[in-house]
Amino acid sequence: MNSQRNGFATYLAAGTPGATTDLTTPATVLAIGAHPDDIEFGCGATLAKWAEHSSEIYVAILTDGRRGTWNREQDQLALALSRQNEARSAALELGAHAPVFFQQIDGELHPSSGVILRLVTLLRSIRPSVVLTHDPWKRYRLHPDHRITGEIVVEALVQARDESFWQELVLPASRPDSLLLFEADVEDHSETVDRRHLEAKARALACHRSQYPSSYGLAAETQDATDQLLPRLIEVASQSEGDLLVERFKLIADL
Ligand SMILES: [Zn+2]
Repeated sequence: MNSQRNGFATYLAAGTPGATTDLTTPATVLAIGAHPDDIEFGCGATLAKWAEHSSEIYVAILTDGRRGTWNREQDQLALALSRQNEARSAALELGAHAPVFFQQIDGELHPSSGVILRLVTLLRSIRPSVVLTHDPWKRYRLHPDHRITGEIVVEALVQARDESFWQELVLPASRPDSLLLFEADVEDHSETVDRRHLEAKARALACHRSQYPSSYGLAAETQDATDQLLPRLIEVASQSEGDLLVERFKLIADL
């Protein structure tokens, strides 16, 4: 452990009881996002770091992102298709497998038994040691898809780990070691990353060209947003921790 990390641990210990940093590199990871760019925003640098250390990285996106535009003339189905292609390119930049698309309608996600079963099947097939998703308990959040994605993941985790659920699946139960919640209401865990991991995050986010105006505040004609996104990502990742770059999460380890 280097001196920077010691300093960081001391800082967290002083201000955040129970705070932890850097999980052991997981063999297999599943990140689940509501929309095609949420995983990149929430944990892109952490995924890039783990991929660099040979983790198998899987991503699942629950909605089709068809409403990710302010343009009322936009064909929503065409946008959903574009966003799938953008998400595939972004996954490549992070070193992840091609995304699994659940293709629920953007803005109308529900914790239906069908969606939960699909996620249980994915969890029992991939058998991740770490799962990452939105915090379903974040207060005062308006957008329902992020909260409901977190709820779906929590329900699916319970049903995937307990043998008494879905015995007809034949797949054996699977219990991850850790759940990391991004955009968390209470952050108590940090993953340290290097600049190159944030560069991968910036390149992945820049793949989402259809989101330049609505999510990034950039002109639709912008050719490549990587150089404009990177300074912002570095600023967010370096807040309060001196020279360290981090992504922050709520860690739930007693699954
Ligand atoms: Zn989103």
